[in-house]
Parts: sequence; structure tokens; C-alpha cells
Amino acid sequence: MVSLGGSIDTDRIEAAVRELLSAIGEDVDRPGLADTPHRVGQAYAEFFSGLAVDPLTHLQEPVGVAGVVSSPSTLGEVVLVRDIDFRSICEHHLLPFLGVAHVAYMPGEKIVGLGDIAKVVDTLASRPQLQERLTEEVTDALQTGLVPEGVLVVMDAVHGCVSSRGVRHTRSSTVTLASRGTLSDPVRRAEVMAMIGSKGDY
Ligand code: ZN
Repeated sequence: MVSLGGSIDTDRIEAAVRELLSAIGEDVDRPGLADTPHRVGQAYAEFFSGLAVDPLTHLQEPVGVAGVVSSPSTLGEVVLVRDIDFRSICEHHLLPFLGVAHVAYMPGEKIVGLGDIAKVVDTLASRPQLQERLTEEVTDALQTGLVPEGVLVVMDAVHGCVSSRGVRHTRSSTVTLASRGTLSDPVRRAEVMAMIGSKGDY
């Protein structure tokens, strides 16, 4: 089920979509468009459901403490969660951008479940966004919620406003990066970037 968020008024979205369809010269009463305002209202409620959620709530239940993690995606003390799918909406055009997030952190006291990190990404992505700001906000949420020694977030996404408008660069993606603490160090950062880029075994 879709969480409708605290203040999303789907009736107003539906009215706005009817207005938008009229504005492009469509017959809003033709059968094919009959349910469109309702569908768009539901879709928008989902796209922006993160506005009503504090991402830090996903980081309140630690699953362990530093030093007890042993997973194939750790290198030294770094925990890396790769290829978290996300969908966001560009606030300049209200068109989707879709991609993957890679999140690395060097734990301090707290370790959370991998799904919790994905929830932080999903919550912050489910708002009107810019990829650069989204990357910074995910990084800040992890820094605040986990108090790690370092954190690094890389996001790689294809933007609907780039692939479907203007010159239509359908395959170009945008990569953004933000880091804090020890993972801002160029050497540590390069190590993590190599881990993210490597798709094979360790
Ligand atoms: Zn855009």
C-alpha cells in the first residue's frame, strides 16, 4: 500500500491534472482520460510520500555494534551497500530520475540493517529533488543518524528531463558524490570507489 503522506491533497492534484489536460487542448472527458487524474494523484502521493517522513526514524534501531560485521562487502571497517535502486522526481521539471545509490560508511558505535539504509534513500528520494542535493541529504542523514567515522554516497541516475526532452541524451547518466569524515580522505575514497566499481568477487 502507498503511504499517502501527511499533507498530500490528492483531490487538488486531480483537479490540477484535469486543468493541465485542458491546457494542452485535450478533451478531459474522453474515456481514455477518465481515470487519468485519479491515477496521477495516486502516483504523486507515492512520489512525494517522503515529505511526511523523517529519514532519521529508519536509523533508530541499531542491529549491531562495530566489529561484529563480517560480510563479503566489507573491506577493513568499511561497510558498503551497493546498487540500491531509487526513484526520485526532479523538482525543475517534475519528471522522474531513476538510478542506483551506493552507500559506504565506517561505523562508529552503530550499525543498521542494509534495508534501513535503503529506506533512508527512498524517503529522501520521495520528495521534489535535485540529484546533487539528494546525495548530500542522504549523506547528512547517515552522518547524523549513525554517527559513523566516515560516510560516502555515490548516486548514478538517468534523468527523464534529459532523456526525454530537448536533444534526448537517452543513455547519459549523472553521477554525484558526497562524503564526510574519514571517507573524505582521497585514499580511502579511492578504495571505496574501486569497491563500488568492482562487480566481481573480493
Ligand atoms: Zn529536470
